[in-house]
Amino acid sequence: MESIIQELREARVGKVLTNEPLADYTTWKIGGPADVLVVPDGKRELAETVAILHRHGQPFTTIGRGSNTLVLDKGVRGVVVKLGRGLDTVRFDGDVVTAGGAVSLITLSVRAGKEGLTGLEFAGGIPGTVGGAVYMNAGAHGSDMSRILIEAEIVLETGETVRLGNDEMEFSYRHSLLHRRPGIVTEAVLQLRRGDRKEIAAAMATYKDRRLKTQPLQLATAGSTFRNPDGDHAARLIEQAGLKGYRIGGAEVSMQHANFIINTGGATADDVLRLMEHMQRRVFETSGVMLTPEVLVVGER
Ligand SMILES: Cc1cc2nc3c(=O)[nH]c(=O)nc-3n(C[C@H](O)[C@H](O)[C@H](O)COP(=O)(O)OP(=O)(O)OC[C@H]3O[C@@H](n4cnc5c(N)ncnc54)[C@H](O)[C@@H]3O)c2cc1C
Repeated sequence: MESIIQELREARVGKVLTNEPLADYTTWKIGGPADVLVVPDGKRELAETVAILHRHGQPFTTIGRGSNTLVLDKGVRGVVVKLGRGLDTVRFDGDVVTAGGAVSLITLSVRAGKEGLTGLEFAGGIPGTVGGAVYMNAGAHGSDMSRILIEAEIVLETGETVRLGNDEMEFSYRHSLLHRRPGIVTEAVLQLRRGDRKEIAAAMATYKDRRLKTQPLQLATAGSTFRNPDGDHAARLIEQAGLKGYRIGGAEVSMQHANFIINTGGATADDVLRLMEHMQRRVFETSGVMLTPEVLVVGER
């Protein structure tokens, strides 16, 4: 690992941190350290980082805003890559917007609204990055990334950069091609439409209001813990199993939204995992449905 660290530093790819605690890089505020955390400053730096790792046969984990990720307590062995400045640029060109992989989805949707562009209102409450949103095909309020993405620029495991069109991304519910073919999204090109600024702002305000009423937005969570089963809602099944407010260690099923797990302060990843396992077991016993996690788990338990 020392020679990889040295090579990354010599290539001036950006910050190269060792034994870096990852809790602050996630919305759950949970998780152990990464052996190495690289924060490439731009496209060249990112492609070079990946190429160096590939040459050394060193696998890596990508993290965005960590808003859908549970980092386990012993942390992540090897290298974690997080997109840095230089990958957070936004360009409007008529009704098309090109956004870097590190751009905040919330900021982007607000900016699009101010430009009088409609199509991103659904993303106004999704606290991830553009890259994480493409990976997850993030969505809400009846829309998702697959509805607006024209193409994505992706650095493959080899360090090679490709551009993939929407039809190549294998989008489905909270799923994209990237789940089976590793790569880092450096840029997304999105097709929006001209709209009325006031109507866009009103729609976003309505969505925000709805979230404030139904989700514990001031607390440390990772959004929906489990995927919604076909034709049903995970939250409904969890509530029906009597689990609202159920707690293991510092992890608690939200009273406000049963599919959200709150870090009440000092929760470990193990608390969250044990709570998730308990929720799956109880929901299965009460409804016969086995819930599938939506949050992604990385690192060592
Ligand atoms: C309060 C709250 C509300 C939420 N509401 C919603 C919602 O309404 N709808 C919804 O879909 N989600 C929601 N989420 C979940 C989360 O915000 C989304 O899944 C988001 O898209 C994750 O983005 P991220 O950058 O945080 O990704 P991370 O959690 O950092 O990573 C998620 C996955 O994406 C990969 N990834 C990250 N960046 C890149 C990149 N540049 N290239 C390739 N892969 C990458 C990671 O490797 C990982 O596998 C919510 C979360 C919270 C905390």
